[in-house]
Amino acid sequence: MKTYDAIIVGAGHNGLTTAAFLAKAGLDVVCLEKNEYIGGATVSREMYKGWLYSSCSYVCSLLRPEIYRALELHKHGLQVTPFGGSCQFMENGDYFGSYHDPEEAYREMARFSRRDADAYERYSADTMRQCRLVRDNLLRTAPDPTSFKPKDLMGLAELGMKFMDMGEDAMYETIRFWTMSVAEYLDQYFETDVIKTTKSGSGIIGTALGVYSPGTSYVLLHHYMGDVDGNVGTWGVARGGMGAIADSIAGALQAYGGEIRSEAGVDKIIVKNGRATGVALENGEEISARLVVSAIDVKQTFLDRMDKSDLPEDFYNRVANFKIRGSSGKVNIALDGMPTFPAIPKGSTLYHGDMHFIDSMERMERAFDDWKAGTWSKDPYIDMLIPTLTDPTMAPPGKHFMSCFVQYCPYQIDGRAWTEPEREAFGQTVIDQIANYSPDFKSLILHYEVRTPEDIENQIGITEGNIFHGELTMDQLLFNRPVPGYAQYRSPVSGLYMCGSSTHPGGGVMSAPGANAAREILADLKRTNTVPENFGDD
Ligand SMILES: Cc1cc2nc3c(=O)[nH]c(=O)nc-3n(C[C@H](O)[C@H](O)[C@H](O)COP(=O)(O)OP(=O)(O)OC[C@H]3O[C@@H](n4cnc5c(N)ncnc54)[C@H](O)[C@@H]3O)c2cc1C
Repeated sequence: MKTYDAIIVGAGHNGLTTAAFLAKAGLDVVCLEKNEYIGGATVSREMYKGWLYSSCSYVCSLLRPEIYRALELHKHGLQVTPFGGSCQFMENGDYFGSYHDPEEAYREMARFSRRDADAYERYSADTMRQCRLVRDNLLRTAPDPTSFKPKDLMGLAELGMKFMDMGEDAMYETIRFWTMSVAEYLDQYFETDVIKTTKSGSGIIGTALGVYSPGTSYVLLHHYMGDVDGNVGTWGVARGGMGAIADSIAGALQAYGGEIRSEAGVDKIIVKNGRATGVALENGEEISARLVVSAIDVKQTFLDRMDKSDLPEDFYNRVANFKIRGSSGKVNIALDGMPTFPAIPKGSTLYHGDMHFIDSMERMERAFDDWKAGTWSKDPYIDMLIPTLTDPTMAPPGKHFMSCFVQYCPYQIDGRAWTEPEREAFGQTVIDQIANYSPDFKSLILHYEVRTPEDIENQIGITEGNIFHGELTMDQLLFNRPVPGYAQYRSPVSGLYMCGSSTHPGGGVMSAPGANAAREILADLKRTNTVPENFGDD
């Protein structure tokens, strides 16, 4: 029987990234995927003839440019185009627009409050300062503060230096920023409810927390720290849907000689004498390897795919207590034409950006209250985008694809599984909210797909369908992600590594966990490193 150098469990974009960097270093790798398609939450599939559905992720910004370049993803078809602005519809018939152009952005804010327009520059500068601190750490392994290894000590010293370089005021602010709520953070700058509401959305996306919950300020950063073509904070669409990202990484992996096997679900990670030696597939087949790398989330890996007796009790308990809570759903809609939104001027750039239909912080918090009560938000926060305005390849000519990311949507309804009528009612809630601002929208719907966290768990295997493979709260970041003492992609079992979004720096279509894991594995094997260094911002 063949023995691979490495088996990667799961062909999501992180698993593919790890596999690609290992294959580039000359290792014989195979990536095993349970579905008949690859990509995980970074997928686009032709679910109807001529229609590409990006069923989960829908916009790109976090993907590290260093990885794009090192794996030559452009050669494998990846092209990301930035899209413009965003729009917040208001119950009184008005709207608030966010624009890339600074003068247009200022004028729009001043329409509501001159004070807020003047505060925006300070807000941007302060937020960008926090972004820089984080961005420098994305393509690095988090240093362990309990270790005396030179690499960890150097890493901590560098982190400390960067922190001190921020200046005295910013040092105080950083601690507050990482722990406070997004509502309190925004209160420091803005007075207008709709402006705060617009900006607060990024603090709760994918998170089982509300705008007034401590820790949501950092989540906002997680949605600001990416870039498209060096423009920090900008988001873009991948031509051909988000699946084009996973496909391009898969193309790189195969070009380096790596293998991908779909419909190869892993049932068990095999451990012999304290060492991972391979996997057993759901069909009973066993595959051997010198090391196993899990790209699935930390609970799926250690609680579901391993024997408890192979793990130290303390580690097992910590994994069991890692927070992965389902809080978001998705409704994807195929449209016969472009819907109109009478509140915004015809031809406005706002059509090309994302749209939201909730205009106050109170409504945002009430949306969270529904989730706490065990049901979906009846007045949800929807991040809606029509990517076909930027990338017409996703739909037949003249038609449009609409992506609706929905916050909040629970994993279970009142502690039990969703029923079909409830799924339908959830989809209808989303459609009704959009229809309040677009009179012709409902008549244009051709077909649509509703995805609850339960659906996402069943289809992609992410626990509770949590988009980040685990909450992005301070207690689960850096050297604590996923578990203290195991934040450097290794596990308590020798030869078993982790490379998915449960590891540092977390979820999002970023490829950073996958790349960082590959670097650590190559270091352990004493092979030449193929993973690029951080470009750095300055
Ligand atoms: C609804 C939704 C919307 C999102 N929107 C965005 C967005 O717009 N932009 C953004 O940057 N991020 C977004 N995210 C987050 C982002 O998509 C994820 O954090 C990221 O894709 C996770 O990548 P991964 O490779 O770590 O894991 P995954 O994508 O979860 O990949 C894991 C892979 O392992 C496979 N697998 C699972 N179990 C097994 C098994 N036993 N054997 C073999 N294979 C297995 C799965 O099928 C999957 O292919 C979104 C996520 C969701 C769910």
